[in-house]
Amino acid sequence: MNALLVEILRLSVWLLLLCAVFVPLERLAGIKRQAFFRPQFLADLGYYAINSIFVGLILGTPLVLLGGAVHQYLPSAMHNSIAAWPSGLRLAASLLVGEIGFYWGHRLTHQIPLLWRFHAIHHSAKEIDFLTNTRAHPVDMVFARTLGVIPVLALGLTGDSTTVTALFLVLGTLWGFFIHANVRWRFGLLERVIATPFFHRWHHTNDERRDNNYAAMLPFVDYLFGTYQSPDHWPAGYGIDAPMPASLAGQLLEPFMPVAAPMTSLDDHGSQRGGPAG
Ligand SMILES: [Zn+2]
Ligand SMILES: [Zn+2]
Repeated sequence: MNALLVEILRLSVWLLLLCAVFVPLERLAGIKRQAFFRPQFLADLGYYAINSIFVGLILGTPLVLLGGAVHQYLPSAMHNSIAAWPSGLRLAASLLVGEIGFYWGHRLTHQIPLLWRFHAIHHSAKEIDFLTNTRAHPVDMVFARTLGVIPVLALGLTGDSTTVTALFLVLGTLWGFFIHANVRWRFGLLERVIATPFFHRWHHTNDERRDNNYAAMLPFVDYLFGTYQSPDHWPAGYGIDAPMPASLAGQLLEPFMPVAAPMTSLDDHGSQRGGPAG
């Protein structure tokens, strides 16, 4: 019980800090003016609580155990070599390997209809701001986290270093909030190196350019795998065409509901998942 209370306190402090950074920033530099209490604000706050508590109290240990189990099957010469790397190099490699794992996990959630049913909740947001980052079904969140974190743990990239581990987790988490922020700033050539709100808005687009820009932090991974998009304008709209319940409970149950019969051929990627999304 104490652990739960500490976790709730920790999450409240993080949320206040996030609001202190992003609310003024979105006021100052918003792509368009949006109310703080926009539609789905309360649902997204619910996702923030559920997913954060889930990760903090439940997911962490199994991930570490699974990563450790895979770690043992890799050659010890590789482990010894990685362990000798300087901390900065291990952090950079953690971010890169984590990004490649996340990229493929994320891409699969768009390409496999069963996984899309869970991921569609994230894409159902029609108004996007920093808090949209938390809008994910727990199953979707667990899948993406697992694919992103297991390769890093298996290779032992964070090692025993608390600093490298903390920076890997905190940078990844903060960057997720940043790329969802309602911020119109562009970053020139830097946008090819680091993911920005502009880059991720094209992931959330609801037009024919959807199913691109899967990376969370390093856009060149999308270059590498042929899914990079960077038009010269902002997307016209976001969301999915398929209906999504308005309530948090309804959304959490939605992936388990019977699927409506497709209207067109299953070759049509969009029709498989009940409507287009990004
Ligand atoms: Zn997103
Ligand atoms: Zn997506």
